[in-house]
Formats: sequence, C-alpha cells, structure tokens
Amino acid sequence: MRSITTLDLQYAHRFYGFKGEAQYLHGHTGVLTIEVEDSVNPGVNMVFPCNEIQKTAWAVLKNFDHALILREDDPLLPAVLDVYEKQGIRNGAPSNTMTGPAFKTELATAYPECRLVVTKETMTVEGMIKIVYDLLKDKLNIVKITFTSGVNAGSADFEPKNVIDRCPLCGIALDENGVCPKCGYKKK
Ligand SMILES: [Zn+2]
Ligand SMILES: [Zn+2]
Repeated sequence: MRSITTLDLQYAHRFYGFKGEAQYLHGHTGVLTIEVEDSVNPGVNMVFPCNEIQKTAWAVLKNFDHALILREDDPLLPAVLDVYEKQGIRNGAPSNTMTGPAFKTELATAYPECRLVVTKETMTVEGMIKIVYDLLKDKLNIVKITFTSGVNAGSADFEPKNVIDRCPLCGIALDENGVCPKCGYKKK
C-alpha cells in the first residue's frame, strides 16, 4: 500500500538557452507529490505517517521554496550573486530563517543563505523529480514522484529499495539502534 503527501514550493527559474518564453526569468508555485510504498505497519495501521513524509521532505526541500533555481552555466548566476553581494544579502539576512541544511549532490547545490539552488541540468519538472528523488531516496521508500508546475507536470516511478523498520506506536522510522526518535519505543 502507499502513503501519499504533497507539498508546495514557490520558486523562480528559467530555461537558459531554451527557445521559448521560459528562457526569461519567471516564477511558479510547484506542487510536489511523494508516494511512499511499504507493507502496512500493523501497530499503527499505516504505511508511513504522511506528516512525517512531509517533515522529512521539507527539511531539505525548503531550500527550494522562495528560492531562485538556476543552471550552473547560466550567466544570470554571477550577475545575481553580484547584486546580492552589493546589497549585503549574499551571505544571509536576518529575515532569511526558513533554511534547510546546505546540500550538494551530483544534480544540485543549495545555498540556503541566499535562497539559491544551482542545478547541473535545466530545472524542468522532469529535472526537479530527478533532484528530489536523489535527495530523499535513502530516507523514504519512494515509488512515485509527481511534480506539477502551473499546467505542466511530470511523474516518475521508482522501485522501493529500503527496508525501513518502523515504530509500532507512532509509525516513524526507528534509528540505527532500533529506538524511535519520537516516542522512545525500543525494538526487542
Ligand atoms: Zn517555468
Ligand atoms: Zn514511536
């Protein structure tokens, strides 16, 4: 069975080098749907608590929210950083508090201090799905990701690959010692 959750991401991007309107900087509210598959955990009668999927995903994905997403070779990148630098917000601002941990993967690097994500490939809906799967594949048994941006959407299916021991009392993943980080349950 599957547990499914969605989250909203508001972001600006452009398709650098693309011959269409999308080559100009513009913004979207993207809706990301993550489907997690496993057996039903008999203790809680759930696959996985949806709010926990959301919490796990949001911890890293909040770096994409109210963020600028540019490809690594886009000349807007140094130009924008130059403006941020001159304005004194390149390395953070007191109001920029909704930041996740900086990350660097094969496909994307997050600079939470200035709400920027630099990508290897153009950030299309397909590109975003690849980035999200890569960031979350070890944490959740993801079998499907759908990303909708305006009227455009993409989706991809994946094979569940993790064996995740879940707490019979609150449903979340047990840590490496078999202890629930939320309620303290310990696996016997
Ligand atoms: Zn767009
Ligand atoms: Zn628990």
